[in-house]
Amino acid sequence: MTSITTRRHDVERLRREHPIADVIARYGIELRQAGQALVGRCPFHPDSDRPNLHVYPDSARWFCYRCSTGGDAIDFVRRQEHLGFVEACERLMAVPAHPLTKAKVSRARRERRWDRLTLEEQILMNTACALYQHALWREPRALTYLRERGIPDWVIRRCGLGYADGHSLEAYLRHRSGLRTAQELGLLRKPGQRDGGKPLAEFFSGRIVVPEIRAGQCVWLIGRDLGDSPHHPKYLALSGERPVLGFERVIGQRTAFLVEGVFDYLTAITWRLAAFSPCGTHLPADRLGFLARAEVIYGVLDGDMAGEAAGQRFRQQLGPRFHPLRLPDGCDLNDLARRPGGRPAFFRLLAAARHPQGKENSHA
Ligand SMILES: [Zn+2]
Repeated sequence: MTSITTRRHDVERLRREHPIADVIARYGIELRQAGQALVGRCPFHPDSDRPNLHVYPDSARWFCYRCSTGGDAIDFVRRQEHLGFVEACERLMAVPAHPLTKAKVSRARRERRWDRLTLEEQILMNTACALYQHALWREPRALTYLRERGIPDWVIRRCGLGYADGHSLEAYLRHRSGLRTAQELGLLRKPGQRDGGKPLAEFFSGRIVVPEIRAGQCVWLIGRDLGDSPHHPKYLALSGERPVLGFERVIGQRTAFLVEGVFDYLTAITWRLAAFSPCGTHLPADRLGFLARAEVIYGVLDGDMAGEAAGQRFRQQLGPRFHPLRLPDGCDLNDLARRPGGRPAFFRLLAAARHPQGKENSHA
């Protein structure tokens, strides 16, 4: 009895000390993040050029959807090295746990390029975006939220805003194909350790979703929580290289408006400005080429320390064509828009920046 208990205890400790992703990466298999899972090439079947191998760090298990094998870290070592159970355990015990994958995984996380989707992935993104759009009009809380933030219906439609109700996407895909692709894209994920038969969880559940649309197709999504609970991040975005939100609104324009946040972006569109947002304060230099035609790029930055720092960074990247517009009283563009007189105040600021000699045009 004792030996069995000891052994089970040892096995559990082995699993704990050797995270599944580390064990697999140690065999030279590159894993990249796809939602809650990590995906890579399966070593157990030939012509493995697709990422069939799925690794679920939360449940410490792996599964190949091509050859239908799977298990835990010990099973992986057994198969990989043709070992028995005990030998595989000993092999694991002999290897010190090391944080090899952290860097590999984070590099992989950056590698997902949302402007490079397979046909299957693009169709799925379009489907999800359409389902979210329909769901928005059925959810009064979401509509109220958008209206309270000053976003009119025409912008909701034009930008394809949606709402993830937490079940429609899974229900729709369950009777078709695409559940797996939705998981690879990060739209659906396993609900946790003991998921016996439970539906997959929707990544954006309970959130307003804002798509980045290219040529009429949804290539990426970011979601805003309806509440302001400290227990949920305000924003969740599909992981990978963030595309510029509003790319097509700005490319080829002579005047462009760089805004920080998602709702600042929606406000700018409401005011019919050619606006884009990096959805954060970082915009890699090798993706600024789309601004080549812009003679002036107004940086509409939050009137706080972070906005100040971001302005200096963008100025370095964009050179003399960059003109920061400092919004008053530490507010962002969406805050300003909801104040009485906010919109004319913004256009006065803009006119002053256009004509620094004081020849202000009334604009709005
Ligand atoms: Zn396989």
